[in-house]
Amino acid sequence: MSETTERPATMARPIPSPAVTLETQAFWEAAKEGRFLIKRCTACDQAHWYPRAICPFCASDQTVWEESPGEGVVYTFSIMRRSPSGPYALGYVTLDEGPAVMTNFVDMTPEDLKIGMRVKVRFQETEGGGPPAPVFGPA
Ligand SMILES: [Zn+2]
Repeated sequence: MSETTERPATMARPIPSPAVTLETQAFWEAAKEGRFLIKRCTACDQAHWYPRAICPFCASDQTVWEESPGEGVVYTFSIMRRSPSGPYALGYVTLDEGPAVMTNFVDMTPEDLKIGMRVKVRFQETEGGGPPAPVFGPA
């Protein structure tokens, strides 16, 4: 397919089409418009990720969607170097709203990625025509 072996230093990698469930459908619909949604519980006022109908903190079903700027800091990460598509980074971002999001880091080199750095969400196309997936790069 591709004839080049030179990869841009973005660490982007192919992402499989996400599994869209009834519980996450609104999230993926928003993702298509470039909007990042999280869920907040109106009973205990805590935000959570991934989106769930039942609050993971207090088990209330009073959870609502909330649009997030998708900004936060790198909590931890691992660089996967033995990938056929080149090195990529997986890790967790702590959103400014509190929840931790497992994600891929993009738009930087492995050397640029640092714990505690500010990052912001962007959406990457997925394989198989599914909705785009949230990934994080420099804010
Ligand atoms: Zn709650």
